Amino acid sequence: MTTAVRAAMPWKHLVKPLGSQAGRRCFATGSSLQASYGFIGLGRMGYPMAKNLRAKIPESDTMVINDVNDSATQQFVNEVGNVTIAKTVREVAEQTENIITVLPEPQHVKAVYKQILEQNNLLTATPIKKERLFIDCSTIDPMTSEEVAAQAHNTGQGRFVDAPMSGGVVGAAAGKLTFMIGAEHDIVARVTEILSLMGKRVVHLGPPTSGLKGKLANNYLLALNNVATCEAMNMGVKWGLDPAKLADMINTATGKCWPSEVNNPVPGVVEGAPAGKDYEGGFGTALMLKDLKLALKAAEEAGVSPYLGEKAKEVYTAAAADEKCKGRDFSVVYRYLGGKE
Ligand code: NAD
Repeated sequence: MTTAVRAAMPWKHLVKPLGSQAGRRCFATGSSLQASYGFIGLGRMGYPMAKNLRAKIPESDTMVINDVNDSATQQFVNEVGNVTIAKTVREVAEQTENIITVLPEPQHVKAVYKQILEQNNLLTATPIKKERLFIDCSTIDPMTSEEVAAQAHNTGQGRFVDAPMSGGVVGAAAGKLTFMIGAEHDIVARVTEILSLMGKRVVHLGPPTSGLKGKLANNYLLALNNVATCEAMNMGVKWGLDPAKLADMINTATGKCWPSEVNNPVPGVVEGAPAGKDYEGGFGTALMLKDLKLALKAAEEAGVSPYLGEKAKEVYTAAAADEKCKGRDFSVVYRYLGGKE
């Protein structure tokens, strides 16, 4: 269905109280074919993801949303429609079989799943036809994820999958995210089908927590590559080299990496890169720091002591607090180092 046709739907702005939808499966013809989706966390990533999900699932499928920020859920209703707002996250889980969470930090994921799982058993509260599936797309530490997964699995209330993503806000809006998932083999197909509605690639890395471990290893490397690229470009320019020529050479030689080729930190070297827009947009320095800290914590838990990560953490911590760099793309480290712009 096109956006125009969807916009013309008379039910678009109708929000039914949750109670009125509860019995829907029981009386609708062919209701067993209907699926139900819960979405918790409609922030910068979650909102466009939920929008893509609602646009791609059949109109008869149910979608229930929740966010502590009421204006986000209300905006979703006004803009997208055909969803029910749940007052609590527990209500989302009671009413739906596929629940997606996109939350900021480990403590938020813990708190949300505590509310969902720790009251009366969900199964006795509201039996559903299909096994309940929890897909957590938040970037958190593997230990927290493992605890939550165990709580869901051991109490028989549902299957839990870690599915962190890459692609940023632009990828989320375009439905082109890459998901890295940690899941048992028997649910990979079901999870892939759902995530493919919001992304272009789903990579299964192994059992629960594998998705997060893969994501953190990747982002650890990205954090270091970025600092190294900023330093290399800074010294090259200070030595008098032309930044575009230097980057061109690096990108056909052994120093080539994503920060040098796609997200080069020197303004004007890569057209459209955040560096050329006063480092606006892109991947925020604070988010990079968050992922780096999570990777270092998980490394420590595995008995690994990375040398370079601690130093990079100092750089990002200082850049994230610097007035000239705050709130900007992580390639702003070049500016923090005093790079020529
Ligand atoms: P965000 O802060 O914009 O959104 C999080 C949303 O969760 C907010 O709307 C907030 O109100 C809601 N929330 C918080 N606590 C809640 C609770 N208890 N119950 C219900 N809702 C609650 O964050 P984001 O940028 O959308 O990122 C979400 C996750 O995705 C993070 O873990 C982040 O690291 C990861 N991620 C972000 C990006 C990015 O570019 N922004 C890219 C990849 C991965």
